Amino acid sequence: MTPISQTQKKTDLLALTLPQLQQWLKDRGEAPFRAKQIYNWLYRQLETDFSAMSNLPQSLRQRLSEEACIGPTVIRSELHSKDDRTRKILLELSDGKLVESVLMLYPPLKESSSRATVCVSSQAGCAYGCTFCATGQMGFDRHLSAGEIVAQVLFFARELRTTPWTASGLPGSTPIDHITNIVLMGMGEPLHNYTNVLQALRILNSNDGFNLGARHMTVSTVGLVPAIRKLSQENLQINLAISLHAPTDELRSRTMPVNRKYPLAELLAACKDYIATTKRQVTFEYVLLSDVNDTAEYAEKLAELLAPLKQFAHVNCIPVNATSASYQTPGPDAIRAFRNILFERGISNSVRAERGDDIAAACGQLRTRFENSRKAPVVPVVTPQA
Ligand code: SAH
Ligand code: SF4
Repeated sequence: MTPISQTQKKTDLLALTLPQLQQWLKDRGEAPFRAKQIYNWLYRQLETDFSAMSNLPQSLRQRLSEEACIGPTVIRSELHSKDDRTRKILLELSDGKLVESVLMLYPPLKESSSRATVCVSSQAGCAYGCTFCATGQMGFDRHLSAGEIVAQVLFFARELRTTPWTASGLPGSTPIDHITNIVLMGMGEPLHNYTNVLQALRILNSNDGFNLGARHMTVSTVGLVPAIRKLSQENLQINLAISLHAPTDELRSRTMPVNRKYPLAELLAACKDYIATTKRQVTFEYVLLSDVNDTAEYAEKLAELLAPLKQFAHVNCIPVNATSASYQTPGPDAIRAFRNILFERGISNSVRAERGDDIAAACGQLRTRFENSRKAPVVPVVTPQA
């Protein structure tokens, strides 16, 4: 069956894998080989207008404009941080729901080249209510379709294609004109929307289309144990990140209600099995909440918890982007002390650089701000045919 965007009658082509697009054409008496041509227009040329797809017969272009569309249409707001390394959009879906996506640009580092990472939303709102998360405080609206997920990546891909980014202060560096990575770390819980998220990743991975390598994709989860187990069986090279944020059930249940359903022992067992099956490292995200989970005692407990996973565990420390008065970001000394304990216990770790503070970059912050003000102007329409 052809997936159709939930509120519009037109088929969203961005929700279809290549075989599904071939079938969609066949069902309409069109030649299935046109699917590859359309995929080329959508994902290589990044075209948004059917009438410009010059190697398609006029009649097919007409049919596409009547029966199909290319993703959601309206960008309600686009913000660039002062250093232009972080850009954020608020995307209005066809039923009026609002989701955020962020583009993060990284200058070249030593031998690695520049990166352009899109932080993608998988749901409007979120059902899991983590206490430090702005999205969690909104409640759950609905899952995004695969097309709505793919569209977020394409929006920034088009923007970079039109205007490649060069890191300021690095005049010799090669401008970056394409997306190199995607992370499912925007609004929502990707594994709660398992089918559509995997469909979107497969579409973006397709050799005939966007061709982004699975190793450049990361799914971040609050820790849905059955879905982690299912994911381990998919034979995918994607990266898995687990939002851990506390090393004891007592503390984790206080900040992350999901822990009451899937406590740490079950979560860690699922991670261990995931590693055994996939032979891939797992990242454990740890939002540092000053004087809540960042003490020496919790660092020791975290090291103890992850020790059995050996070199397959990596901790990403994330100083909290304070969205409410309840939490504060720890200072540099506290962060260093916490990380040193992990290092001393042999736990590999890094710290996520804060970025985009001036544009409400923490997930859910921009929508919250927008809904509080309802003043943001409507700026360019992405798909002119819809
Ligand atoms: N639902 C998924 C993915 C979206 S959240 C998950 O929870 O993993 C992506 C990451 O941002 C998660 O690690 C989440 O815990 C973290 N996060 C949420 N609110 C944050 C905040 N205010 N500051 C810093 N990180 C935050
Ligand atoms: Fe949902 Fe992730 Fe936010 Fe928790 S941190 S409320 S799971 S989006």
